Amino acid sequence: MPTGFYVHIPFCVRKCGYCDFNSHASTGELHADYLEALLGDIDAVRHRHGSVAIDTVFIGGGTPSLFPPGQIGAIVDRLARNFRLEAHEITMEANPGTVERHDFAGYRKAGVTRVSMGAQSFDAAELAMLDRIHSPEEIVAAFRAVRAGGFDNVNLDLMFALPGQTFDTWRRSLDAAVALEPDHLSAYNLTFEPGTEFFKKRAEGRLREKPEDEQAEFLSDSASRLAAAGYARYEISNFSRPGRACAHNLKYWRREPVLAAGAGAFGFDGKRRWSNVRSPQEYIRRAKTGEPLEATSEEPDREQAMLEAVMCRLRLREGLEEARFQGEFGAPPAEMFPRTLKMAADRGLVSRADGAVTLTDSGILVSDTLFGEFAKERA
Ligand code: SF4
Repeated sequence: MPTGFYVHIPFCVRKCGYCDFNSHASTGELHADYLEALLGDIDAVRHRHGSVAIDTVFIGGGTPSLFPPGQIGAIVDRLARNFRLEAHEITMEANPGTVERHDFAGYRKAGVTRVSMGAQSFDAAELAMLDRIHSPEEIVAAFRAVRAGGFDNVNLDLMFALPGQTFDTWRRSLDAAVALEPDHLSAYNLTFEPGTEFFKKRAEGRLREKPEDEQAEFLSDSASRLAAAGYARYEISNFSRPGRACAHNLKYWRREPVLAAGAGAFGFDGKRRWSNVRSPQEYIRRAKTGEPLEATSEEPDREQAMLEAVMCRLRLREGLEEARFQGEFGAPPAEMFPRTLKMAADRGLVSRADGAVTLTDSGILVSDTLFGEFAKERA
């Protein structure tokens, strides 16, 4: 089975207060050294895993669009030199506040086929509260620049349940996003992650998290509005036009192999999961001295792997395919999780059809609690 490949670019213009990704404010002083380390890392991944077939690439961050097309092209070329690159989807993340820096036709020429843009909101006050570097008008201009560059596959990321956000401002953001006719939309619930500015501000009472029932209302309202606009929900937070689901991200949700390079990048070869050292400076230093870039490594045992399969695949509309699960773990889900599946079916949270267990709309709204029940049953 072809694998995916994730490439991490850990630099941003400014750190957003809610962001817990491995991203660092940067004015570019490390970029050239980082690229060199990254290209060497890609070579090293090939030495460990062989010249396997790759059918999806995701260049994420951070803000990869800080790197000019020539540097992104160098990454794609290095992947092609090391692997059987049969990628029908090469995604690059872009920040609308950086799009005017480089010509998007150049990224298309460099091999990128899909752009994922972090819009987050079309409300100026919400964007300022999120510490975003762009205005609503810049999102529109950036989207048009990406289309003009030749991209027929573009995603917009949005965030809901923001402090101070109303249903009215959210719906206006959603409508503004839909009006641009992207091929894919992701709508994520804002979370307050430990270590972020937002986490601190919430603890100090400077930001108020929306109650859970209100968060759920935002999500279900979004799903019905996006469905009406022709976007099918294929994952809890992801919606697409026909044939435009993100093939790379599907690999994570299906628990399939995705190799990786870059500071803090996580890879999975189907058995072992590893991550690289997070600090870009340390990543560059180790690359220069030839020290290993890996910082963590683990091989999930059967129990862990089984739980991961349940939690990842149930996020998808296609659900948890019973025959595949039995092939991997020796028994169907109903035998491994009899209590939770019965409880969830009795309450209308899951349904069973065509050999798969899927979350119902009510199940999606309580998915985190339900996933906790699966874990408890095997504890
Ligand atoms: S632009 Fe994206 S990756 Fe960078 S700090 Fe903001 S949310 Fe994080």
